[in-house]
Amino acid sequence: TDASLVHAWRARVAAAPTAPAVRYFDGVITAQEAEDRSNALAAALQSRGVQRGDRIGVYLQNVPAYPLLLLALWKLGATALVLNPMYRGQELRKLIDDSGACGMVCGDDAVDETRATVAGSTVLWILSSSPRHGQTRDDLRAFGSLDVGPVSPDGDLLALSEEFAGRRAAEPEVGLDDVALLAYTSGTTGPAKGAMNTHGNVLAVVRSYASWLALTPDDVVLAIAPLFHITGAVINCTIALLTGAPLVLAYRFQPEVVLEAFAEHEVTFTIGSITAFNAIYNLPQAGAEQFASVRALYSGGAPIPPSTVERFQERFGVYIHNVYGMTETTSATIAVPLRGRAPVHQPSGTLSVGVPLPGLRARVVDPFGHPVAHGEQGELELSGPQVVPGYWRKPEATEATMPGGRLRTGDGAIMDEQGWIYLVDRLKDQINVSGYKVWPREVEDALYEHPSVNEAAVVGRPDDYQGESVVAYVSLKPGRSADPDELRAFVRERIAPYKCPREVHLVEDLPKTQTGKIRRNVLRDPRD
Ligand code: ATP
Ligand code: MG
Repeated sequence: TDASLVHAWRARVAAAPTAPAVRYFDGVITAQEAEDRSNALAAALQSRGVQRGDRIGVYLQNVPAYPLLLLALWKLGATALVLNPMYRGQELRKLIDDSGACGMVCGDDAVDETRATVAGSTVLWILSSSPRHGQTRDDLRAFGSLDVGPVSPDGDLLALSEEFAGRRAAEPEVGLDDVALLAYTSGTTGPAKGAMNTHGNVLAVVRSYASWLALTPDDVVLAIAPLFHITGAVINCTIALLTGAPLVLAYRFQPEVVLEAFAEHEVTFTIGSITAFNAIYNLPQAGAEQFASVRALYSGGAPIPPSTVERFQERFGVYIHNVYGMTETTSATIAVPLRGRAPVHQPSGTLSVGVPLPGLRARVVDPFGHPVAHGEQGELELSGPQVVPGYWRKPEATEATMPGGRLRTGDGAIMDEQGWIYLVDRLKDQINVSGYKVWPREVEDALYEHPSVNEAAVVGRPDDYQGESVVAYVSLKPGRSADPDELRAFVRERIAPYKCPREVHLVEDLPKTQTGKIRRNVLRDPRD
């Protein structure tokens, strides 16, 4: 077993130093180069005063500097505070203040704005990192893999790594309990909380998922998920770094660019959100040929309508595997086996999220924490080496959510006799129509069966007569049409009348979190 992520990384470098570790458009960084670069960065950061336990904001898109920076921080026993580069102003400032970060690395186009945003906070310095913002594939190519941008007053990350080339930090003793990543939850249900993902947590997830997929250095991992999200950081980035499979990065998610990357790099494995796969599906130029080398395609973070999986497989010959994870479980913890197909729960029509990954204990419990019978609904409760020791500086929230290390997920779930787990929406999202329980997912799945529906979200609206009524928000596929009455009639043919939406609103786009999750709370209450 490994002493830390750094230990595991160095074993991989020693095994194949010249193997490609990171690919970025035309650029390649070998394992040894990544080791040397990250050593230099660690020395540079140490010269700036970074110590074990410090939080450093990583406020970047999926660029080569990202994995190098993670390695450098881990070598120092420091914590990467992963930040969504689309966050602005207060969104960003809140996380900086909560985490007490002492330094930040951001894209060189964002330095000035970031400096203003964090003025007067705990942040003492900001380093910039190229490549700059690029809109098209050619822009990105032009910047190459390790281009050095204009040096900001605080310095440029890669210029610094060149200045410190060949030097090494005095590395502290780093162990499994050190916090590798401070990742904030998506804030879908309330204010975001910082989950302390330790070296031990990340290793547990990487090892269990890699063995689950039988991932080897012959695989090619494409990072579709953003690295600032726990799934991107752990199951796209770190899993590739530690397994020895090249990690393909492509800046931020752009469907055309990602589609090309599949073919160009002969990608074998990726994990993304269903929103991302839908965007790829909507590209007219997409075809089976781009997915020829794919052997594992996983979608996590949000429910998948069964019809989406079918459509995707029909057109591209690739099956989308479901995977469940939370920021608090260091991402993927329940998944559909590679050779398996997710069963669909009857009568709800919900696609299974899979079975627990090795080492994870999953139970479905009642409000008192007692397990319920197979086939019955309760709350999903998880424990094991994947579950974080707690939230950063929130002992009450930690005690309330994961008492005794048992994580109450807030997700309604059913486990069948074979151990397949089905999510039946967040407990908070359940709609109560005159005492009848309606799970938004079931209504959404019925809407998704309509050929014109692009996305659907269903919420409960307070109703004097019924308690709550079912309201649907729907966006249509480009060039398609359908009116609300037609959609209501369509759903009516598929599910019980009390579950059918009272109102259907056609919208241009549904409100989403930056990681592509539909924010039902905003639809429920626009002031949220
Ligand atoms: P917050 O906790 O701040 O409200 P969040 O729970 O959305 O935000 P994440 O940790 O990113 O933040 O998401 C975890 C949640 O995502 C799970 O609790 C579950 O509700 C949902 N989820 C994850 N994977 C799946 C999946 N495969 N199918 C359905 N839902 C999923
Ligand atoms: Mg949550």
